[in-house]
Amino acid sequence: MLPAKSSLSLAYPPPVPEPATAGTAAAPVVEVLSAEKTYDKGTRALLPVDLRIRQGEFVTLLGPSGCGKSTLLKMVAGLLEPTDGRILLWRQPVQQATATAGKMAFVFQSPTLMPWASVQTNVRLPLDLAGVPRAEADARVADALALVGLTRFHEALPRALSGGMQMRVSIARALATDPDLLLMDEPFGALDEITRHKLDADLLELQRRKNLTVVFVTHSIHEAVFLSNRVVVMAARPGRVVETVPIAEPYPRSLDFTTSTEFAQYARHLQHSLLRASVDTEEALS
Ligand code: ADP
Ligand code: MG
Repeated sequence: MLPAKSSLSLAYPPPVPEPATAGTAAAPVVEVLSAEKTYDKGTRALLPVDLRIRQGEFVTLLGPSGCGKSTLLKMVAGLLEPTDGRILLWRQPVQQATATAGKMAFVFQSPTLMPWASVQTNVRLPLDLAGVPRAEADARVADALALVGLTRFHEALPRALSGGMQMRVSIARALATDPDLLLMDEPFGALDEITRHKLDADLLELQRRKNLTVVFVTHSIHEAVFLSNRVVVMAARPGRVVETVPIAEPYPRSLDFTTSTEFAQYARHLQHSLLRASVDTEEALS
């Protein structure tokens, strides 16, 4: 007999309809308009970038270390100012947009949990900071923990959890704020490959269910192809966008996709694009 599928087994999610907003008519959530960044010491972290991301899209920034992925993501989050150019969220300047037009959450590479506080207290933190009444906050924390499959661990301390579970707590903390836009900077980069693939599948299921707009940073080709509607390929020295590759594969995507011919073709295309860009860089520097 086959083992029963656990509720955590989201690698083979049930079919969900395409969100109505995923078509070409969907409103832009993120508009990067010739935004570039030169740091104080003169490092050209990013040449001008143009990028538009629609409601419900999953867009990945893929590239080697130092190509400006974090710089671009932080500029979208309003944590860094572009040296030139503009960034709009929901058609408004970033600071203004997050105050009025929509909610954005940022997930960092390390889970950054308070070690002395329980899982539920950690997830409640942004709600406490925003002054959400306790009863409502508790309900939202419970929902977020259920979404990431950690209900049973609400009273645990972070150190009692595995790295993958700590990352889920960090994602629950972002989801508890009910974001429309989720920015994730190599969220699973520190995890082993098997855990990462599992969390990738869970994240994709969540994104589809909540019709989230996601900008995801990784240097894993596998992750980029599996997750994305579009992959923005970047190169370093100077940091720049070299190509945007649509992954024209329907959702939901199961692990079967990762062993398909199409998957291998997309992966090869991205690999060549990354290699070509690094050769161009070496030639330019020589
Ligand atoms: P990635 O996330 O793709 O690894 P980053 O955006 O972190 O790339 O960095 C892009 C470039 O900008 C790198 O050369 C990096 O050393 C440089 N850089 C990043 N942050 C700063 C900073 N605060 N001050 C100066 N240079 C920086
Ligand atoms: Mg980075």
